[in-house]
Amino acid sequence: MDNKIKISVRSLVEYVYKSGSIETGFRSAVPLSEGTRIHQRIQKQYGEEDQKEVYLQAGLTFNHLDFQLDGRCDGLIIKNGERIIDEIKSVSLPLSEIDKFAYPVHWAQAKCYAFMYAKDNNISNMTVQLTYVHAKTNEVKRFLQSYSFCELEEFIVHLLESYSPYAELRVRHQKDLIKSLQELTFPFPAYRNGQRKLAGAVYKTIAEGKNLFANAPTGIGKTISTLFPALKAIGEGHIQRIIYATAKTITRQAAEGAISLMRDNGLNIKSVTITAKDKICFKEETNCQKDSCEFANGYYDRINQAVLDLLKNENMISRTTIEQYAKKHKVCPFEFSLDAAYAADAIIGDYNYIFDPRVSLKRLLEEEKKKTALLIDEAHNLVDRGREMYSSSLEKSAFLQLSRSFKGKDEGIQKSVKQVNGIFIALKKKCGENQEIAEKDPPEELFEILEEFVQYAENYLRQNRNNTEEELLEVYFAAQNFIRIGKLYDERFVTYIQKQRNDLIIKLFCLDPSNLLHKARKGYKSAIFFSATLMPLNYYLDMLGFQEEDFIVSVPSPFSKEQAKVYIQPLSTRYRDREESIEPIVRTIKSMLKGQRGNYLIFFPSYQYMENVYGRFLDEEMPVHAIIQKTGMDEREREEFLDAFQPNASGTLLGFAVMGGIFSEGIDLQGDRLNGVFVVGVGLPQIGFERDIMKAYFQQQGKNGYDYAYTYPGMNKVLQAGGRLIRSENDTGMIVLMDDRYVQAKYQALLPEEWKDFIVIRN
Ligand code: SF4
Repeated sequence: MDNKIKISVRSLVEYVYKSGSIETGFRSAVPLSEGTRIHQRIQKQYGEEDQKEVYLQAGLTFNHLDFQLDGRCDGLIIKNGERIIDEIKSVSLPLSEIDKFAYPVHWAQAKCYAFMYAKDNNISNMTVQLTYVHAKTNEVKRFLQSYSFCELEEFIVHLLESYSPYAELRVRHQKDLIKSLQELTFPFPAYRNGQRKLAGAVYKTIAEGKNLFANAPTGIGKTISTLFPALKAIGEGHIQRIIYATAKTITRQAAEGAISLMRDNGLNIKSVTITAKDKICFKEETNCQKDSCEFANGYYDRINQAVLDLLKNENMISRTTIEQYAKKHKVCPFEFSLDAAYAADAIIGDYNYIFDPRVSLKRLLEEEKKKTALLIDEAHNLVDRGREMYSSSLEKSAFLQLSRSFKGKDEGIQKSVKQVNGIFIALKKKCGENQEIAEKDPPEELFEILEEFVQYAENYLRQNRNNTEEELLEVYFAAQNFIRIGKLYDERFVTYIQKQRNDLIIKLFCLDPSNLLHKARKGYKSAIFFSATLMPLNYYLDMLGFQEEDFIVSVPSPFSKEQAKVYIQPLSTRYRDREESIEPIVRTIKSMLKGQRGNYLIFFPSYQYMENVYGRFLDEEMPVHAIIQKTGMDEREREEFLDAFQPNASGTLLGFAVMGGIFSEGIDLQGDRLNGVFVVGVGLPQIGFERDIMKAYFQQQGKNGYDYAYTYPGMNKVLQAGGRLIRSENDTGMIVLMDDRYVQAKYQALLPEEWKDFIVIRN
């Protein structure tokens, strides 16, 4: 039996040396590029005989497990015949705060390299050197320590001993997993039309290490058609892990459901669902400091045991399972879900764990990414989500308030905050009479001052650990993010300044996220983008970072045109005509629902418009039960709304909802639960400053700016809303599109094929 464990030195020591508490990260990590530059500068100082970036490996047997340990040490220095392993660490902490044994994990890493080198070269004594370099000042501090080979060997045995329970579990599970995957069959008696085509394309893409953009209509069973082949690809050794990324909780539940179905068919897989921090946090207030949260206090001392317990006993690791084990081991449920995710075969979570520079799965090493496939569900959502993730803003009021609070408290903070305020005042002047202005160039001067502010804030927060300064922390994180996004700034961004009541906002606005989305997924073996509405396809390929070598597949609808009757009611729903449109809308609903039993949804472009029509509709005293979506509905209220849609209705139900909201995507009211959908308007986003800058930008790029900023995102919402109706071979009903633009050739070209045999309603 194959009991091989391949592990890097870094992963091994980080596992064994986990200890301490979660702390709010008020220490800026040295950026990767900066760290590389520092390493190279130190390595340039090496002598002629010295070597840099030395690859080392060793095979070791422990407890019937064959460990293949490898890694690259920063330097091998030869001094008076003595061999010294040099390990360079770039830090942002003042070097005075670092003493010789401050970081046992750094010594452990260097000792592993020393052991491997000594073993290979038959050396009885080795010296280890830790070289700490301050990222800002370039100041250097070195520590040296010598070890005999026996000491190093003993140390390695101790590391393997601590790691082996986890390793054994992994080896055992890996065998079960592969066997179950090889035996796994498609969990339905037959493939639906198009399903096999999609599943085949997904498998081929992953096997070849390519990327795929799949436009697959509603009802095809996208979740199972992507998950099944991706899991098969694990079984065939093409990948080791999948990440199923979604925009909404409801689609995460669909992925859990599909995995659970395959588990019933014998699949032995460990899957972890990651729930957002603010949702899963056990505390009233999310303050992740050891003094305020018992789940943060000592988290790293308990986490290995908690993960072991979880993996030993559970396979489908949902939110509830995470909560249960997190309570048992007294660990933070959010961090716990991330730690468990690194050990899982399938991770289900939000887009941001892949694409957002703030929360992505940072500990997923490049090596591991190469063995991971991404399944990006409802990928049309990623365009706007990408824009959000890669944009950042600051408010003047937050700095003004901070400047008041820190008066006489900390000179550095006070000074830098005042300077930021000075910049805001200058920007306000620049705005003049305008409500907002946009500029091509990034605010370089502001970045410099913010860097200073961040340094002062870090010093202050470090020295006052026990005294949480909420206000400072908030501004500190906002400044950090602004700087981080500033580093991504290129010609696809603008900076805009906007007056808002008594405040002033400065925003780094990402107009076109395609390049950054592409960069974020580049390290992974494969990315599969799929949606029922990647339409028009060229627009989505452009916005999602399609590359020439990527694959495309379009699957036709598995359902017949006859299942949905499509009507167009040509009336104007443009902003200026909305008041007048209320009456004809109500009239249309009335005549279409006359004598009809069943459940219907009506979607509007805004809450205001929806409420106005709803109010007028109630005056009619029709024999129709009407319910309406509210802003910020909690899970229970959402469920109540959807529960009202029962099959075999004896009366008529009409649900008023907004397009692009929680009920217009991802919900599945199969069979008789939904008999018709009305869509009011063409879904255009509200005309506004941001959309207008986007329009101008894409126009300059030689594209149709208006369509990129308004028409396409709008029509996507229409297709999603209408797509609620036909979910299976047995579903039938009507779709009523209410807007005169639907009779224009341009809008008709954006409708799916199966909607094109429409009937125009004449008054
Ligand atoms: S339980 Fe909540 S407050 Fe405590 S560490 Fe986790 S997220 Fe932070």
